[in-house]
Amino acid sequence: MSLIVENLSIRTNQFQIVKDAFFKVEKGERVAVVGESGSGKSITALSILKLLPENLKVSGKIEVDGTNVNSLKGEKLRKFRWNKVSMVFQDPSASLNPLMKIKDQMGEALLYHKKVEKKEVDKKVVELLRLVEIPEPEERINAYPHHLSGGLKQRVAIAMALACNPDYILADEPTTALDVTVQSKILELLEKLSIKKSTGILLITHDMGVVAEFSQKVFVMYAGYTVEAGKTEDIFKSPLHPYTKGLIECSPILNGGKKRKLFYIPGNVPEPSEKIIGCPFHPRCPEAKEICRRNIPPILEINDRKVRCFLYF
Ligand code: SF4
Ligand code: MG
Repeated sequence: MSLIVENLSIRTNQFQIVKDAFFKVEKGERVAVVGESGSGKSITALSILKLLPENLKVSGKIEVDGTNVNSLKGEKLRKFRWNKVSMVFQDPSASLNPLMKIKDQMGEALLYHKKVEKKEVDKKVVELLRLVEIPEPEERINAYPHHLSGGLKQRVAIAMALACNPDYILADEPTTALDVTVQSKILELLEKLSIKKSTGILLITHDMGVVAEFSQKVFVMYAGYTVEAGKTEDIFKSPLHPYTKGLIECSPILNGGKKRKLFYIPGNVPEPSEKIIGCPFHPRCPEAKEICRRNIPPILEINDRKVRCFLYF
């Protein structure tokens, strides 16, 4: 049982946003996709749920527990979105209707997508709020989203995502809008849920500290490519790709929060419209060689790790 993305490409009429992304999440596993903003992470997640606007063309393999996602339409797609894979967004307000009480919006999901009986709905909502460790759930079900703090709202959004007991959750920067102490608690919650319910979680983040805290495996994305993949532990111990090295160096948490001037990666992720010949990281790479300016490196497998860089050829 796994969620598999391979050779993913996403393009508009004019340019390619995602060029060659891949990753895999097994059921019950916690996986991170990391990269700076603009690297194509969010759009990749949206493509798994077929939530992209029509003008974007998606090709490549997206398969969830053997189902080819591209072939899903109508009722099957709706079911897939609630019962198989669901999503938690950075801004919890994006998942919640501000005009509806918590019990009504969660109830709606349970009634329509999980076919819970009407008289059972409130009880089930309370159960879900308890599962995400919201205090006094019997009272909180009558709240509107704006009555809740950011952290509680994100817990409700997670409860919504869990309503139909999906096998996988895609969480796009779920803690970025929250302060640091709340951030850790939400990550802890997601970890507990993945263990308790065997939910596979794909966490999208720009923060290597979050990766270290949460994930078992990590896929590093740059400019629409997956550039490195492996076990989190191995990647932190010996990052192979110069971009991964830079991300680790940049993370204040991993540097012990020291105030010294950190190494940083100069420059920015290229815009999808920018034409870069060769390795997309070469304009920023401290280790670039002649070949890097001419060719795009293919993926190389080294034991159970993968890297897209000419240093290893
Ligand atoms: Fe740097 Fe070359 Fe590796 Fe690209 S292929 S990351 S430019 S060394
Ligand atoms: Mg994003």
